Amino acid sequence: TPAVYKQRAASVVHSSGKIPLGIKRKGLRIVVTGGAGFVGSHLVDRLMARGDSVIVVDNFFTGRKENVMHHFGNPRFELIRHDVVEPLLLEVDQIYHLACPASPVHYKFNPTNVVGTLNMLGLAKRVGARFLLTSTSEVYGDPLEHPQKETYWGNVNPIGVRSCYDEGKRTAETLTMDYHRGAGVEVRIARIFNTYGPRMCLDDGRVVSNFVAQALRKEPLTVYGDGKQTRSFQYVSDLVEGLMRLMEGEHVGPFNLGNPGEFTMLELAKVVQETIDPDAKIVYRDNTEDDPHKRKPDISNAKEHLGWEPKVDLRKGLPLMVSDFRQRIFGDHKEGGS
Ligand code: NAD
Ligand code: UDP
Ligand code: UDP
Repeated sequence: TPAVYKQRAASVVHSSGKIPLGIKRKGLRIVVTGGAGFVGSHLVDRLMARGDSVIVVDNFFTGRKENVMHHFGNPRFELIRHDVVEPLLLEVDQIYHLACPASPVHYKFNPTNVVGTLNMLGLAKRVGARFLLTSTSEVYGDPLEHPQKETYWGNVNPIGVRSCYDEGKRTAETLTMDYHRGAGVEVRIARIFNTYGPRMCLDDGRVVSNFVAQALRKEPLTVYGDGKQTRSFQYVSDLVEGLMRLMEGEHVGPFNLGNPGEFTMLELAKVVQETIDPDAKIVYRDNTEDDPHKRKPDISNAKEHLGWEPKVDLRKGLPLMVSDFRQRIFGDHKEGGS
């Protein structure tokens, strides 16, 4: 670290981490990397509502200004266009590190998971902030254990087309634990399972956004492979609640945050048909390489230690994203969703 960082560190008074659960305190300074993205912007809404000061750091790779625009003008809110692969100097109490090219279409060849995470850990170390990593269920790869517990080490191809994402997140977890053990940084690790909701990227190729957009546009739903592979889909408000409980709680993790309700892609297509258009057609396309056959979180740990479990099941959650998608696709300029 350049000397200037270390000098500044000496003058920083930090309050994070030492506050017992349940004690009400106001005015934390919180940075959310990737805060202009899908999950990040919903998290920012909750933190702003709680009365914290929020700095969003985002390079708008997949995020959009529209997702956080409703906070412009609030003196507790700041938006910085910045790539976390470059060092960053800030004085904050908590860091929610979400910045990541999160979809298969975007994540190839990108060093964000490793270099970006290293920089944010360096920042956390310098100012004594608590650091939360949003890792992913992809660390389990094509799992040989089902459902997946946090103790499972995963089954990941290190040289495949998805490796940049899953190995990148595995490395990010390693770095996070090394900074915790080696430098005493207070860390939290969430392993997030497939999440959906308003403000999801429209064209980033994920299955829920694809199906919803296709049904609204009267295009056939594209099922990859035989459609019998499974995923477990979590509504975004449940995830945000879990992330905040994890940050405020006493446990490092990793914690699985996901909805154990498991669906095949054909079942998902059916729910989308029921919700949007019963006449929507299904077409089959080749599946992508190394696609995990099944995925379902064991969330006993989060239940026990965070007092958390998801509340919104797929049939309740899916309709909640339709009006946002409709507005963005058919363009009546009401951006953002709720
Ligand atoms: P998203 O693409 O909407 O959000 C990611 C944000 O990070 C975007 O705003 C993007 O512009 C920003 N970003 C990317 N690279 C950056 C960089 N180098 N510097 C600064 N900003 C950068 O995706 P999301 O679904 O909101 O995902 C948020 C986090 O949750 C990610 O870390 C992702 O890996 C994790 N996650 C999400 C899911 C899911 O289903 N949504 C599942 C598992 C893990
Ligand atoms: N870093 C940063 N902001 C800070 C402190 C550090 O972006 O406030 C970056 C720094 O540039 C380095 C990384 O975080 O690339 C790791 O920093 P650390 O101090 O842990 O490692 P060192 O620089 O001592 O190798
Ligand atoms: N998928 C699909 N049709 C699509 C997009 C994806 O059938 O239009 C499948 C994909 O092959 C995978 C599952 O849906 O089996 C989930 O894919 P997604 O990219 O949403 O998430 P991830 O694979 O990262 O869990």
